[in-house]
Amino acid sequence: MDKVCLRGRDYRDLAAVEIHAEHGVICQIRPLPQDDALPIIAPGLVDLQINGFAGVDFNHYPINEESVLAVTRRLWQEGVTTFLPTVITNNDDDTEQMVRGIANARRRFAAVGYGVAGIHLEGPFISAEDGPRGAHDRTLVKAPDWSLFQRWQKAARGDIRLLTLAPEWPGSAAFIRNCVQEGVTVSLGHTGADAAQIAAAVEAGASMSTHLGNGAHLLLPRHPNYIWEQLAQDKLWCAMIGDGEHLPMSVLKVFMRVKRQRAFLVSDTTSLAGMPPGRYQLHIGGDVVLSEQGRLSLADNPGLLAGSARSLLYGVNALITAGMASRHEAWDMASVRPAAMLDLPAKGGLAVGSPLDAALLGENGTGELKVLSTYAQGECVWREQ
Ligand SMILES: [Zn+2]
Repeated sequence: MDKVCLRGRDYRDLAAVEIHAEHGVICQIRPLPQDDALPIIAPGLVDLQINGFAGVDFNHYPINEESVLAVTRRLWQEGVTTFLPTVITNNDDDTEQMVRGIANARRRFAAVGYGVAGIHLEGPFISAEDGPRGAHDRTLVKAPDWSLFQRWQKAARGDIRLLTLAPEWPGSAAFIRNCVQEGVTVSLGHTGADAAQIAAAVEAGASMSTHLGNGAHLLLPRHPNYIWEQLAQDKLWCAMIGDGEHLPMSVLKVFMRVKRQRAFLVSDTTSLAGMPPGRYQLHIGGDVVLSEQGRLSLADNPGLLAGSARSLLYGVNALITAGMASRHEAWDMASVRPAAMLDLPAKGGLAVGSPLDAALLGENGTGELKVLSTYAQGECVWREQ
């Protein structure tokens, strides 16, 4: 199917449009007479942090290549057309096997090659301290090691695109420079860095904060601290977990106001996202409970979160229904903005010359959006039955 034509109301202004694409790329957008019966049309969602979904865990070796395809397809139901499987702190050999497996899946399945824009390596070059380290294994975190990273990047055939590290390790600035030179985006996260270390990392080319406000000490000096310092660095894009649990809405609001066009959402989902409610065993986190509402907590301490189980769409809807962002802005925070951060083709959104990655959406009475069908590269890849 080389030529496609989609009709909908543009998510930005609800004007009816007809979008034409050839070979998966938008070639023309024409206005139509207003028709409120048309679905809303919006760019596909872009999630830079997915640890797993629907029973698949990108941190559980061995990785099965078909399971990467399964996640790619499952995420279409959530309107996600681009994502970064995220591999966290593991031992060196397991990390190598994980990134190799994901890279192989990208080459074996066209849908994965298209939907997976690269790999996010979150660790092991992160803080060893309780708090910033989060659920990562203390015995496996280490200082940035360029030759080790090169070994992984070789196994990944260059697919590691985003790296989260803590810049307080000695040698971080040189390591960040090397990464940036090789086209790898460096993000600060799971860090307890001081102001000078954060400034030096930004100077060396770090350009993002990973889930700012999480992976942090429970108690911090009022100022200075690494949250203020990252907020004040204008060059840092700010990723926020939008599941409504990891950050209070007031904190999300403040981060959004400070970072403006550089604030965006990630889901940071674990393998339990998209699973029925119940009690589960996670290899990181142990016994956990997934509630009817999609909240994931420790079984023996329900006050403590055990990761996220809500897709990006939840975060978009939470911002809209809380009145914290317009539909246009909330959607951009989970689509064109993260794509722009990584300079992905999807950054153009619904515009001539961009890939036709899109979601057709319905809206309920409170303004919450629901995915009716999803298109990737101009092809309908999922439709509500
Ligand atoms: Zn994390």
